[in-house]
Parts: sequence; structure tokens; C-alpha cells
Amino acid sequence: MSRRAPRVGFVSLGCPKAQVDSERILTQLRAEGYHLSPSYQDADLVVINTCGFIESAIEESLDAIGEALAENGQVVVTGCLGARQEKLREAFPQLLAITGPHAEAAVMSAIHDHLPAPHDPFTSLIPPGGVRLTPKHYAYLKISEGCNHRCTFCIIPSLRGDLVSRPVGEVMTEAEALVAAGVKELLVISQDTSAYGVDIRYRTGFWNGRPLKSRIGGLAEALGSLGVWVRLHYVYPYPHVDELIPLMTADRLLPYLDIPFQHASRRILKFMKRPADGEDVLRRIRHWRGICPELTLRSTFIVGFPGETEAEFQELLNFLEEAELDRVGCFAYSPVDGAAANSLPDPIPEAVKEERRARLMTTQERISERRLAHKIGKTLTVLVDSASDQGVVARTAGDAPEVDGVVHLPADAGLVAGQWAAVRIVGNDTHDLWGEPLSQPASAPVSAATGLA
Ligand code: SF4
Repeated sequence: MSRRAPRVGFVSLGCPKAQVDSERILTQLRAEGYHLSPSYQDADLVVINTCGFIESAIEESLDAIGEALAENGQVVVTGCLGARQEKLREAFPQLLAITGPHAEAAVMSAIHDHLPAPHDPFTSLIPPGGVRLTPKHYAYLKISEGCNHRCTFCIIPSLRGDLVSRPVGEVMTEAEALVAAGVKELLVISQDTSAYGVDIRYRTGFWNGRPLKSRIGGLAEALGSLGVWVRLHYVYPYPHVDELIPLMTADRLLPYLDIPFQHASRRILKFMKRPADGEDVLRRIRHWRGICPELTLRSTFIVGFPGETEAEFQELLNFLEEAELDRVGCFAYSPVDGAAANSLPDPIPEAVKEERRARLMTTQERISERRLAHKIGKTLTVLVDSASDQGVVARTAGDAPEVDGVVHLPADAGLVAGQWAAVRIVGNDTHDLWGEPLSQPASAPVSAATGLA
């Protein structure tokens, strides 16, 4: 009589970095013969990968833990919130185990203790590229863990530690396996992508027998040789980011940079312990666009940071008008337990923070709409995310999945998810574009990345 395979439920919360941790654990679970359960009732044990970045994320994680305990009872917690062991243990004494982030081995060991793996030599049926939570055609590629900066609003370094870069050969081997599994877009992530290799002094590694430096420029170029879209996220505004721009004009990298500038006022950036100031950043943006006019810039900002005056907030709005960033996210500052910024004087009232956030987003909406309108009439290459009888949703080189806008195409466009296509842009709103498919499919995905006609 065959025994039912042990079943694990999995709840993955938080940022793409946490998602990659989840994918590794899920891959290992499948490799060992565990089955994954879509419901609490059917699971023998539940793993929750938590987020501890801002208060609302912490609350969401705590709610998920409470729900899993009520519905299932056998719960292992991992992730950023897991780094606060004592508090969690106090709130949920019945948890089976608690680990911090990036702790695949500890999570697996906790699962083994409470739900032993089945002994079946034929269960290792792992797809190439591992078990992923993203659609088949794109994947996150984590190149390092931790961060050497000490931004005063952030507790990630105390949760995840200093920067630890993955060996460059290992990153490339994983990227190749993902491409072999059908991935058409690699989203490079870390806490600080441009710092890749700093901790290992840019050590030379090997990929396919060739030496390769552990440096973001070399890594990006090697990834670009795989023939798929390569998009960089979480780039810290170091001067050597300039070196990446020629790779974009050479069609090795998507002309897209996600750089969290956080603010434009020199004084507020100093309190945040962030580099540069608005003027410096504007000069560099002009320089980048001079070399690569089709560059899409995404950034995030914090408003209502302690001590932020109306004049400093206005400076940020002026910066946005000048910089004309394509995509912008904005958080109202919220104190996170353990962050150095909590001890800064002059907290901003909640209502003022919210009012500033709304003003910033209104300003940015106008800018976004204007920039998208410039694309009307152009022919762009898109990657199709989904196709149904409701319509086709795709993305251009300027749209990262989940955080940016999309291109809407007619349902009868004859396209399927994961396909590249050439489309003519015919309309836009604040965040999205509308297009019509052209008869010939896009054949050269990377060189057609910008596809400006
Ligand atoms: S760069 Fe700053 S905000 Fe980003 S993870 Fe490091 S300390 Fe946190």
C-alpha cells in the first residue's frame, strides 16, 4: 500500500529577495519528495516566509502566522520577521520553529524534525531551473545577500547582515539553467546590486571554463550573452553605475535602471545616510540619457522623514519635475522597530505625511502620463505575460513585472504568454500603454529591446 507523501503548505510574503528564498526552499522540498499543498487543511505542516520591512508588512506577516496556526497548527516561520525570534516566540509560543531570512538549511532541518521526508528514490522530479513562484517566462536571480550600508530608516542590515556576494560562476550556472527552462527575462536582485563583489574584492571566478570577475559590469555583460532580457533592480547610485549604460546601448542589458533615490534634499539624504543629492543625481541622469535616450528610470522615495520641511519636500517635487523619472513609488515614512531614524527629532504628523505622499503621486502621475504619450506611434518589442479572451497583457523593456505598467493588446492578437512580439503603440493612460500587434514577430529579442521606430 503506498503511503501518502507528506504535504507542506507555503505562504511567501515580502520582496523578490524573500521570494527567491521561498523558491529555494520549495525546490528543496520537491527534491526530497514532499508535496506542496494549496490549502491549510490539506497540509501536514505550513511554512511562512515573512517580511519585516515596514509596519504594514509586519502586520500582514503576523496575521498570516495567526491564520496558519488557527487553520493548521503545525507552523514554521522564516524570513525577515523571523530574525526577531524572542518577540515571535512570545506572541506565538506554539510555533514549531523560527528562523531568520536566507536560512534554507535551518528551515529544512525544522521540517525534517516535524515532518520526515518520504523515503522514495524516484521522487526527485525537479524541473530544470527549480520550483519557481514566478510565471515560466521570467525569473528573479539573486546575486548577493545583505547590505554594507546603514540607511537610518532600514533594518535590513541588522536582519540579513553585511553584503555576501554569490560566486559569479554559481550565478551564471543558475541563470543558464533558468534560460534552459524557458525563462525569457532575468530580473537581477539583491539588497544592493551595484555593490556585487565588493565583499570578495571582485574575485575572479569561472564560467564555462572562462575567467569572469565578480563585478556587476562583467556579470551583466555575461548575463546579456544568454540571449534573454536582463533587468537590473535595486541599484545603489554609485558612480560606477555609469559603466552599465554602454551595455544598454550595446543591447546586452535592458535600458532600465531601478535606483531607489529616496529623496532629493541634501540635508534629508544626510539624515538618511544616503549618498548624493538632487543636483548630483540630475547631472548623472542627463549624462545617462545623453548616451542612452531610451533609458527607463524607476525609483522610490520616502516622504515625511523626520525633520522634512515643506521647503525640502518642495525640493523633492521640483527634482521630480526636472528628472522626469518614468516610474516612481512613494512611501510615507513609518518608523520600524530598531531603525536608527526613530531617534531623530521632529517627527512629521501622519496627516502631513499622507498629504505629501498624495501630492508627490499626483505630480508623478502627470509626468508618467506625459512620458508614456511620447511612445505613441512607436514600434516596441513586448514580452507577453498573459493571454485570454479578455485580452493580452504584455510588457516593454521599460516595464518590470509586478511594479510597473503594462501594454494592453486585443484578445484576438494571436499571442501566447512568454512570447516576444512587435507592437505599435496606439494609446496610453497614467501607467499603461495600449498597442496593436504587427504581423511579423519580434525575432531578435535583445537587440529589439528598445525597438524605437
Ligand atoms: S541600501 Fe539602505 S535601504 Fe537598502 S538594504 Fe541597504 S541599508 Fe537598507
